[in-house]
Parts: sequence; structure tokens; C-alpha cells
Amino acid sequence: PTSTSTTQAILELAQRYIPGGVSSANRLVDPNLVFTRSQGAYLFDAEGKRYIDYHAAFGPLLLGHSHPLVNQRAAEAVMQLDGVGIGSNEQEARLAEKICSYVPSAEKVLFCNSGSEATYAALRLARAVTGRNKIIKFQGCYHGWHDAVLMNVISPAEKIGQKDPLSAGMLPETIENTIVLPFNDLEAVRQTLVQNGEEIAAIILELIPHNIGCVLPQLAFVQGLRDLSTHYGSILIFDEVITGFRHGLGGYQKVLGVTPDLTTLAKAIANGYPLAALAGRADLLDHCRPGGDVFFAGTFNAHPMSIAAALTTIEILEQPDSYPHLFRLGERMREGLREIIQRRGINATVAGFGSIFVTYFMEPPVETYTDLLRNDATKFVNYRRQLIERGIYKLPVNLKRNHISLAHTTADIDQTLEAVDQVLR
Ligand code: PMP
Repeated sequence: PTSTSTTQAILELAQRYIPGGVSSANRLVDPNLVFTRSQGAYLFDAEGKRYIDYHAAFGPLLLGHSHPLVNQRAAEAVMQLDGVGIGSNEQEARLAEKICSYVPSAEKVLFCNSGSEATYAALRLARAVTGRNKIIKFQGCYHGWHDAVLMNVISPAEKIGQKDPLSAGMLPETIENTIVLPFNDLEAVRQTLVQNGEEIAAIILELIPHNIGCVLPQLAFVQGLRDLSTHYGSILIFDEVITGFRHGLGGYQKVLGVTPDLTTLAKAIANGYPLAALAGRADLLDHCRPGGDVFFAGTFNAHPMSIAAALTTIEILEQPDSYPHLFRLGERMREGLREIIQRRGINATVAGFGSIFVTYFMEPPVETYTDLLRNDATKFVNYRRQLIERGIYKLPVNLKRNHISLAHTTADIDQTLEAVDQVLR
């Protein structure tokens, strides 16, 4: 039901009782806009106005908002209170089996509730099995809120090449143990390993750094990381929190044909319900069994509600037209955007893969984070603000990607392109 509260009343209430009005630093607080309902491809604000949504809550809503069958199965699981935190559970095992059947690196799976928990666990496991402390991450990649990885996502030009921690209170010794390198730069990784190879526990990366829009990895870079990790005995971790299920049930590793030791999944795997997974080599994951030497736990881990949502999400994604629909709409959007940009002579570059797209206001190429420093951030945000006025919701924050869902239609894409054409005119 539509809320009867007004935008200002909701904002005031939230600001009064929640620091800044939201419970996640990544969420945008817009002084004039509060969403009170979402369905399929659409968001509705407190005044009842409809928006075509491409923010998708940062990515989970691959099937669209509030998917009826996912909701129904999740609700049924809750009503039955089927196995909350009591021993082995059939549905949890069935989901692990499904993930192992699709994701090339997955021989075993552990479930938790957020992407940050999954990447934390992956890094702890890597440290445990290698007996080493240092990790390598890449400029432009986000892996969650914990100290080892919370740095160098969207860094200003003057911070590139140095540590750029994103929070006060992070442990200096943890920050020190993280080495930040440029994405797609295999030589930088090779040199680091030649110098410090026996100290590096893990290399972690977003296979496609979608936290800065869409920078596609060079196959030689990812294959090189695989070879170097094997050679130096480091654990290779693909953070597929965004790309998992979104670019295929096997993740983007299946598309690229390179297999890591560990994979983290979250966001789209349960279409909006809280679920994340750490998957990978059985000999590694087995360290995390009860009584094993690596501690992995959580009261709500593998909650039946989220497990049911994920099994249903997979069932829907397994239907033969699901991925073709997502990819077709993504291609239609990118082609439409390119046509408008070219016709209007705008200095912009359209990037993306599958259901993800983004328009940077700069010339190509888009291969490293430093390329994106050429993006005109003011134009990027203003463009999106004007689209929001026209009922198209893309997060008005620099470098954020857009997501298409299974609920979007050709008509939604075409309506979006019409609005883009007006704004760019
Ligand atoms: N890894 C990646 C690639 C992400 O994009 C995110 C979230 N944006 C995370 C990890 C952390 O996930 P969560 O917010 O669920 O903790």
C-alpha cells in the first residue's frame, strides 16, 4: 500500500532517530525524495510518482522488485520456520549443490548474510591456509566495510598510488598489510610478487569493477593473476558479489573461463533477500567446518527465508529466456545510448556488460581507474538528476552503474532512451 506519510515527514523522522537518516553510508539521502513502494521495474515515491528503476538497490533485484514467486516461497519458508539455525538443512544443501553445479570454482559452499562477511571470511581463510598476512587488492574495487579492504575505491587523483582508507578507526596494521595495485596491470602484480611473493596470502578482485561503473578485465590480466597466484602459492579470490548470477548462473568467471580458488557471492543470488556465499575449493572450505581451524559462524547464516528466495531465483533464471532477455535489453540500451550520443555530438562513452550499463562523460578508453578521472563528474550527476525529474531513477552519484532487471521491458528501455535524448539535447 502507498504510504500516507509525506516526503518531508518521513525524512524528518529518519533524521531524528537514525544518524544521517540511513543505515548504510552508501545510501543516498535526497532532501526531496523518499521511496515508499517498489514493484517489478518501478519505484514509487511518497507522492505516488513512478520511476523506472536502474539503481536496483545496488544490484540485488535481478528479477525486479518484490518478485511475487520469490516472496511467496520466502514467506512459506518463514511460516514453516523450517530449520532456523538447527543442524543440517535440506534446502540449504540443495542450494549449495546448485551453486556447485553452476559456478566453476565452487566445490563446496558456506552461507552468510552479506557480501562483506563473505569477503572477510575469504581473506581470513586465505591467511590461515597460507600462514601469510598481506593481501593485494585493486584501485576501484570495493569488497565491503571491513578494514582489510575498505580503501581505494573512488580515490581522488592525488590519492592514487597511495593508501586511501575510507573510515576513521581502521587498524593501521591491517591497512598496512593491504597492497593496492592498478586494475588490468599484470606487470604491477608480477613485480609485487617477485618482491613479496612469500608474504602474499591472497589476491582479491572484482572480476568486473562495477563499483566504478564498468571496467572490463583483460583476459590476459585475469589469466595472469591465476598463473601468478598458483606460482607464488597465494589464494586467488574472485569477488562476484555483483556479477554472481547477474552475468550468468556461473558468474563472470564462467564467461571468462578463468577459475579462482575462492569466490564470494551476494546481492542478486537471492533477489533482495539477505544472503551471501563463500564458495571454492573443497580442501580450503573444509577448514571452516565446525571444529576446524578457521572459525566461520553466524546466528542467521543460511536463513530459510533467504535460502528459499535463492532457490526460487535460480529456478526463474534457469528459464530459457531469462538471460537472453536481460542481455537483449542491455544491448538495446547501450546501442540506443550510443546512437543518441553520436547524433548529438556529446563527449561521452557507453560501457557495460549484459544487464549493466553506464554513460561516462569522457572519451574512451575505459580500462583502468585512472581513465575514469577524465569523467566529468558534474555532468554525470546533473544528467542523472534531470533523468530523475523525468521519472527515470539512476543513482545520482559519480561512477555508479545502472542495472536492468528481468521485469524491465522493451517499452521501459525505449521510454528511458527518449528521456535521455531530451536531457542530452
Ligand atoms: N563486494 C562487492 C563487489 C560489492 O559490490 C559489495 C557491496 N556493494 C560488497 C562486496 C559488500 O557487500 P555487502 O554490502 O552486502 O556487505
